[in-house]
Amino acid sequence: MSGIVVKQARHYRTVGGRHVCGLCPHGCRILPGSRGICGTRLGGEGALVADNYGKVVAMNIDPMEKKPLYHFRPGELVMSVGGYGCNMDCLHCQNHSLSTVRDGGGRHRTIPPQELVGICRSEGVRNLAFTYNEPTIWHEYVMDVHSLADGLDLIYVSNGYISPEPRKEVLDRIAAINIDVKGFSEEFYRKVTNAHLAPVLETAEACLAAGVHLELTYLLIPGLNDDDTQLQDFCVWVADVLDAHVPVHFSAFHRDHRMRDGRDTSAEDLLHAKKTAGEAGLKFVYLGNLPIKEGRDTVCPSCGATVVTRTGYQTETDGLDGGNCAACGEQVNMRV
Ligand code: SF4
Repeated sequence: MSGIVVKQARHYRTVGGRHVCGLCPHGCRILPGSRGICGTRLGGEGALVADNYGKVVAMNIDPMEKKPLYHFRPGELVMSVGGYGCNMDCLHCQNHSLSTVRDGGGRHRTIPPQELVGICRSEGVRNLAFTYNEPTIWHEYVMDVHSLADGLDLIYVSNGYISPEPRKEVLDRIAAINIDVKGFSEEFYRKVTNAHLAPVLETAEACLAAGVHLELTYLLIPGLNDDDTQLQDFCVWVADVLDAHVPVHFSAFHRDHRMRDGRDTSAEDLLHAKKTAGEAGLKFVYLGNLPIKEGRDTVCPSCGATVVTRTGYQTETDGLDGGNCAACGEQVNMRV
C-alpha cells in the first residue's frame, strides 16, 4: 500500500518562526519550507513534519550476523528496513546511495506500521531491524511500529547520534543495537562526519544502563582513525567505561563517496586492531569486510572453546548451552 502520510515530528519547539528540532544534537533551526541537515525534517507553517514517515527504500530478510550482531540470537533471520537521509555526513559513507538522498528521490514505498508488522508476521521472523540508513531520523515511524509490534523485537543499527529524550524513548523499545563508533577523537568526528563524538559515547553508555544488548562497530580507515592513540583510547573506553564483554567489530574500509584518496584497510590493519583490543582486555573482537579466520568465531574467554562457528553467514551454535559456553559454563554475553 502506498500513500501520502503527513506526520508531525515528535521532538521540536517553535521559536521566532523557526522550528528547533530536538531529535539529535545538531538542533537544526528550520524555517517553513526548509529541511534540517538530515533532509527528513521539513518545516511546515504550523509544525515540523517528519517527511520520511514510513517511506521505505530498502527491505530484506538478512542473517542477524549481517547487521552485524554476533551475540544476539546467533543464526536467526531479521527483517531489515531502511529509509533515506542521515544526520551525519561522513566523507567515506559506504551507504551513500541512501544516506545522501534528501527527499526520498522517488525510490521509496510507503509502508504503514501495521503493514510492516504484518509483513514480519507473515515471513515468520521475530526480529525487525531499522538499518541501512540512520534509524534515529525515523523516530516517529519506529515509535508507531513498536506500538503494534507485540512479539517482535526491534533492533537498531545506528550512529548513536541522538538527543537524550528521544534516546530514552528508543531504548525503552528496542532489544539490541549496533552502534558505529566512527573514530575516537573529536577532531575526526568534526572533520569526517560533521558531528561530535561525545553524544555517541553517551548513547552507548545509556544502552548498557537500559539493559539493551549492545555491540559496537569501528570502521578502520588507514591514516585517519587507526593510529594507536585512537585505537587504544577506544578499547580502554570499552573495557573501563562500558564492559570488556561488549562485542566489538573492527571492519575494513574501502574508498568510496567523497573519500577516494589513501588506501583500503588491509588484513594486517584489522589484525593489529584486534591485538590492541586484546591487550586492553576486550573479550569478543571480530573482524569484518575481509575474510579473516581469526575474526569470525566466538571463543570462550575462560576455557578457549569455540562456542559459535561462522562460515560466511552460516552459523553453528553447538558450543552454546543457552547463552553460556557449553564446555565450561562461562557466560559469553550471548542472548539467544
Ligand atoms: S534530526 Fe535532522 S533536523 Fe533534527 S536536529 Fe538532527 S539533523 Fe537536524
